[in-house]
Parts: sequence; structure tokens; C-alpha cells
Amino acid sequence: MDISLDTDLSKAEIPDPASVQTDWGFGYSCVAESYHRSVTSVDDVLRAFADAKASGRPIVLRGNGRSYGDVSLQPEAISLDLTRWNAVESLDPETGVLVARSGARLEDIWRFALPDGWWLPVVSGTMLTTLAGALSANIHGKNNVQSGTFGEHIDWLEIASPGRGLERITPDHPDFWTIVGGWGQLGFILRAAIRMKKLTSGSVLVTDYPTETWDQLFALFENDHDSDYQVAWMDGFRSGKGIYTNAKTISADEPASLRTSYQVPSDRMALRIRKDQAHKFLRWFTNRPGMKFLSGLKWLAAVKRPGDGGRMLPLVAYHFPLDFVPEWQRAYRPGALVQFQVGIPREAAPAAFPAFLRAAQRAKLEPYLVVVKVHRPDPSLLSYLCDGYSIALDFHQTRRNQPRLRELLRELTDLSHAHGAKFYMAKDSFLLPEDARKSFGSEAINQFRWAKSRFDPDNLITSSLFRRLEIADNP
Ligand SMILES: Cc1cc2nc3c(=O)[nH]c(=O)nc-3n(C[C@H](O)[C@H](O)[C@H](O)COP(=O)(O)OP(=O)(O)OC[C@H]3O[C@@H](n4cnc5c(N)ncnc54)[C@H](O)[C@@H]3O)c2cc1C
Repeated sequence: MDISLDTDLSKAEIPDPASVQTDWGFGYSCVAESYHRSVTSVDDVLRAFADAKASGRPIVLRGNGRSYGDVSLQPEAISLDLTRWNAVESLDPETGVLVARSGARLEDIWRFALPDGWWLPVVSGTMLTTLAGALSANIHGKNNVQSGTFGEHIDWLEIASPGRGLERITPDHPDFWTIVGGWGQLGFILRAAIRMKKLTSGSVLVTDYPTETWDQLFALFENDHDSDYQVAWMDGFRSGKGIYTNAKTISADEPASLRTSYQVPSDRMALRIRKDQAHKFLRWFTNRPGMKFLSGLKWLAAVKRPGDGGRMLPLVAYHFPLDFVPEWQRAYRPGALVQFQVGIPREAAPAAFPAFLRAAQRAKLEPYLVVVKVHRPDPSLLSYLCDGYSIALDFHQTRRNQPRLRELLRELTDLSHAHGAKFYMAKDSFLLPEDARKSFGSEAINQFRWAKSRFDPDNLITSSLFRRLEIADNP
């Protein structure tokens, strides 16, 4: 491996009080103050391990903070910040293998690669996720059934861990699928090689199909065998009403559409409102009547153009629409955006999803955004994906509704257990240790602890979520 180790681990430094920073989970429901350290070299990582050991202060690994809860937060910890560890290093024009440092965001990667016709094989709904965050959560996209998870497109990754030092890990390594999807608990991922996807056009053909019932929705998912991407938006106020959307890549040669200038949409939305100011306008609608009204409008607009032959959209505009409304989550302030996302086996989803919405409607805490995707099982150890569906529900937490929302989340969690669900930790801020045990199973948790005892025998790396769920600590 081409990394040199010249750190003298005996010269530990105690954290500098001037480095204290406040970090939030993406949805503003969790916050922590920690000692930030910018990583600019491998030595910085190794020194941080030494300092953590000497000072008794834990380390938390922080990507770009796009996880909704506390998975990259830990009060009082040394927080290793990836912002400056962010270069795309190379792209092989023959094979499409791209090597990047782990702080590179999906946006940095597509901007580097798309002009040459290479696209990321799997992306999240935001391009602001870092490579480290994508690997640690083993993210999925709207093409999960077709293409699997992010980790399935990795040739190798490099990791620095307190217990084993520097290593290059390939998919045939027995710990690969514990590190990928390992939530930054085993070590600091330094860089990775991604097998990119070759494209000749930067557009996708997107078609909407409005639904009136859940049965219609599941039939659309199940009978769609030739799309590249599949997702549904559902109305949280009117159970069963929603819009199933599929998209297909274009095989024609369209070099102009690979340019960044074609990909990035206008910075204005309807009524010429600047998108970076939209969260102020959205705030007026971030309440039950406002969201009920907007959801109804969205559905009616789709009814006017059912299966309309499709519209061409740039890949970036299709995959990351929310990124072009910067800081949209601030519309939920002074409250918070709490997301609940679970994966549910295929046969259980048709009963579980309407039951979730009934519970939310009974509590008068309807989710303002509901997204459904279809999945295949994922090889990572603590994955929430299975042969089935996932649902993500966005709730508005306010000071007044917080106790009721907690009760609702508990009810949804219990319903999820009853349907054999697993929880996506990128979105979690409230689960309990017994939920994690029921969700992932004791065997997977024990295997994870075994890996932790080898990679991080002194439990130097942690996060509030892992402490709360008691998953990783060595006995
Ligand atoms: C609008 C939006 C849409 C989203 N859509 C999707 C989606 O479609 N599919 C999906 O799967 N997810 C989705 N997500 C979730 C998001 O992709 C994940 O939470 C992702 O992990 C965030 O990465 P990050 O770079 O922001 O890192 P953070 O959120 O800061 O951290 C994520 C994890 O990475 C770990 N980590 C950080 N640095 C390192 C390192 N150097 N080495 C090892 N581990 C490290 C952290 O400890 C933490 O466990 C979405 C999030 C948002 C806000």
C-alpha cells in the first residue's frame, strides 16, 4: 500500500479548546459539541488515535453530516472532519475505475467523471454525501433492485484502524461487509476505488403514474421490469394516493448532455423565487394544513399527466432535486425534521405501510413526506435492506408535539417489529438497544462486536447512536 507511517504515537496531544464546534444531525433533532480536527494526511488520523488513547477522549468520525440523527455525533469527542480530505485522485478511461479520498462528495465525483461519460453506479437522494458516508452507511439509490448498494461497486478501500493500522481491503476480505455498512466504528476509511457506470447521455426519461390505492402502487413496482430507477412519493394525508415514478437511461449519443452546465438546474423556482431563499417561503407551509394542501396539489398535477410518455431530465436534476433548494430542512425550524425509515419484507409491506399511515393520522401527526422504494438484500452485516420495500416518513417535531411524536415513533417501531422490519441507522435518533437486537439479530451484533474487538480493541471510536444502541462496545 502506498501510505507511509511516520507518526510517533507516543507524542500525544490533548484536544485544543479552541477547536470546539457544534454539529447537528441533518434534521436538527440531535446536536453535540466536540473537538474538531481536520484530516489532511494519514498521519493526522493515526495521531488522533494516539491522542484519544492518551486522553481517554473518544473519537467520532464525521462526514458531511447528512445523516438525520446522531450516527456521526458524540459530545466531548475528538471529531475527525473530512472536509479537507476530499480529492478525486484518478479515473481510468478504459475501465472507469475512479479512486477518491473519502471526503470527496458524490457531487465532486460526478463533476469530475461525467464529462468523460462516467456516472456513479449508486447515489443517495443527496449528492452532498461523502464517499466515507456512502460506504459507512452502504447507501442505496432508486436502482437498488437493479444495481444493489454502493459497496457492491467497490474494487478496494483503504482503512486506518487503531487495532490493525493501515490496510487495503478488497470485497473477498472477510471483514469487507462489516466495514462497508459499519457506520465508521471500525476505523477511518481513507480512500476507495469505485467502478463507475458508462453513459453516452446525461439524461434520463422520467415517467409518473399517479396511484389511488396501495394495491395499485405495489402492482406498479412489481410489474415494472425494464426501468433503471423506481421510486414512489406518497401523500401522508391521503393513504394510498401517490405517484410512482420510473426512469430509464438514454442510450443515444448525447455528448452535450454530459456537460455540467446542462446538469445543474436553474437557481430559480416557480414565481422566480430564488431556491436558496425557498426555505423561508416553505416555512409558511410547514404545518398540517399547508402540507396537506401542497401534497394534494402535487398529486393533482400528476393526475393531469398520467404515464404521459415521459419527460427528459438531466441525471443530476433527477437524482438530487432537494440539493437545489439549499437548506430546505430549515423550513422545519425552530422544530426539527425527524425521519423514520425501515426496510420490510415484500409480503409484509402491503399491510405495514397503510398501518403506519393510519397510526400517524390517528395521532394527527401525518408525515409531510413519504417515500417508498423497492429493494434486494444487501450483504453488509447491519443492513436494513431486504427482499422487499422501504418506507421513509418525514415528521415535523415541535416543542408542543414532541411527547406525542415520541409515542407515535414507538408505535411505528413496534408495528415494524411485528412485520419483521429493520431500521436504517442513517435516519435514527430514538431507537433503544432492544430494537437494535430485534432488528439486526444477536448473531449479527455479536459478529460486529468481534470485528470491533480486532479493529478497535480499546473502543476509541464511537458515536452517540452506537452508545445508545449498545451495538459496538466490546465486552
Ligand atoms: C436529503 C437526503 C437524502 C438521502 N437519501 C438517501 C438515499 O437515497 N439512500 C441512502 O442510502 N441514504 C440517503 N441519505 C442518507 C445519507 O446518504 C447517509 O446518511 C450518509 O451516510 C451521509 O453521509 P455523510 O458524508 O453526510 O456522513 P455523516 O452523516 O457525517 O456520517 C455517516 C457515517 O459515516 C461515518 N464516517 C464518517 N467519516 C468516516 C470515515 N472517514 N471512515 C469511516 N466512516 C466514516 C460516520 O461515523 C457515520 O457513521 C439521504 C440523506 C439526506 C439528507
